[in-house]
Amino acid sequence: MSRTHSEQLFRRAQKHIPGGVNSPVRAFKGVGGTPVFFHRAEGPYLYDEDDNRYVDYVGSWGPMILGHNNEAVREAVLRAVADGLSFGAPTAAEVDMADLVCEMVPSMDMVRMVNSGTEATMTAIRLARGYTGRDKIIKFEGCYHGHVDSLLVKAGSGALTLGTPSSPGVPKAVTDDTLTLNYNDAGGLEEVFKARGEEIAAVIVEPVAGNMNCVPPTQGFLEALRSYCDQYGAVLIFDEVMTGFRVARGGAQALYGVTPDLTTLGKIIGGGMPVGALGGKKAVMEHLSPLGPVYQAGTLSGNPVAMAAGLATLRQLQREGFYEELEAKTEKLTEGLSTIAREVGVGLHTTRAGGMFGLYFTEQTRITRFDEVMACDAARFGTFFNAMLDRGVYLAPSAFEAGFVSIAHDDADIDATLDAARAAFAAL
Ligand code: PMP
Repeated sequence: MSRTHSEQLFRRAQKHIPGGVNSPVRAFKGVGGTPVFFHRAEGPYLYDEDDNRYVDYVGSWGPMILGHNNEAVREAVLRAVADGLSFGAPTAAEVDMADLVCEMVPSMDMVRMVNSGTEATMTAIRLARGYTGRDKIIKFEGCYHGHVDSLLVKAGSGALTLGTPSSPGVPKAVTDDTLTLNYNDAGGLEEVFKARGEEIAAVIVEPVAGNMNCVPPTQGFLEALRSYCDQYGAVLIFDEVMTGFRVARGGAQALYGVTPDLTTLGKIIGGGMPVGALGGKKAVMEHLSPLGPVYQAGTLSGNPVAMAAGLATLRQLQREGFYEELEAKTEKLTEGLSTIAREVGVGLHTTRAGGMFGLYFTEQTRITRFDEVMACDAARFGTFFNAMLDRGVYLAPSAFEAGFVSIAHDDADIDATLDAARAAFAAL
C-alpha cells in the first residue's frame, strides 16, 4: 500500500507545525511509521491522501459513533451554516441541546456548553473547588482528563504523596493539591479520605478508563467513590468525555448505576465539531457564573453549527436498540480477535464497554490498573498496528488508547478486520 502523499505532507508539515501534528498522539510516536493524512471519510471508512481506504476504529477519537459523514448530521450542519457561523448570543439550539442532554443524563439538572473536553474538566474542577471551598482533588493513575495544568500529574506517586507535574511548564504549586491514587483501588481511597477527607474538594475519574487502553471499573470501585464523597462532602466528577453516549445512552453512570455530582462530556456531544460540556446537580451548577461566583466563559461556546452537529447526532442515539446493536458489533470484534489470537498462539487480552474496546498484548487475563497496562507489550502492539494499517485497518496509533466501533460498521467490515488480524498476528 503506497502512502507517498502522506509521506510528502508529513515532511512539509514538520516545517511549520511542531512534530507535524496538532495533537501529539497523531504523530505515531508510539507505533512507528509515518502518520497517515486523510482527506475524506464515509461511514466506517477513512480515505487517505493516496485514496487508500481503511476501516476506521478511531472515529476521530470517539465522536463518530454514527460513522463518518452521517447524512442527517451533515444536512443539519449545512442548514446551520446557511444562517451564520456564530452570534455570540443565545440561540434556540442551545436550549434544545441542554434539554436533550439533561433528559439523556438524569444526574444533570443543568449543563454549560464549552469547546473541548479539556475546558469541561478544567471548569468542573474549579466549580467543585468553588462550591466546597476546598483545594485538594483526587485523580487516578492512567486517567487522562485533558491538558489541564492541575491534572497533568505524574502517575505512581502513591496514596498520600502530593502530585508532581508530568509536564514542564506546569508549576509545582499547581499540582500540589492533586493527589493521585491507583485506579480500581478502593483501599487507597479509604486511606486518603481518612487522612484528609475534610480537605478534598473533588474526586475526578474516568468511569471506564479509556486513556490507558480500555479498563472497565471493578465491582464496587465507583460505588466506593460515591460513598466516600458523600461521607466527606466532596464532589464526585465523572469525566464522561469519552464514555458519555458511548457505553450507554446515559453514559457509564447509567451502565454502572452510580450517580456523580458533576459530569463532563465531549466528543459525541459535538458530533465531530469542537464541543465539550459540564453539568450536574443544580445545587453545584448554580455556583457557576453568571448565577454564582465561579467564573467561566467562552467566545464560541454553544456555537450554532456545533450545536446542530451535536443535536443531530444525539437524536439518532434515541433509536430503539441502538446501543444493543453497537455493543453486539463491538463484541463480534473483540471476541473474534480473541479467538483468532488463541488459535495462532498470540497472547491477547481484550476488554470492552458499549462501543469502546481495548487490546492488550499480554499473557494476563485480567487488567485493572495502570501498572498492569504498562507491563503489556507495547512494541508488539506497534508491529500489529502497522501490519493492520497495511491491510486497510486504522486502529488508534497508541497502545494506550481505547478503540471505538460505530453503528456504521457492518458484519463485512468486522469480518474484513478479523481476516486482516489473522494475517497481522502471523507477522508478529
Ligand atoms: N477527558 C477524557 C476522558 C478524554 O478522553 C479526553 C480526550 N481524549 C479529554 C478529557 C480531553 O478532551 P479534549 O481533547 O476535547 O480537550
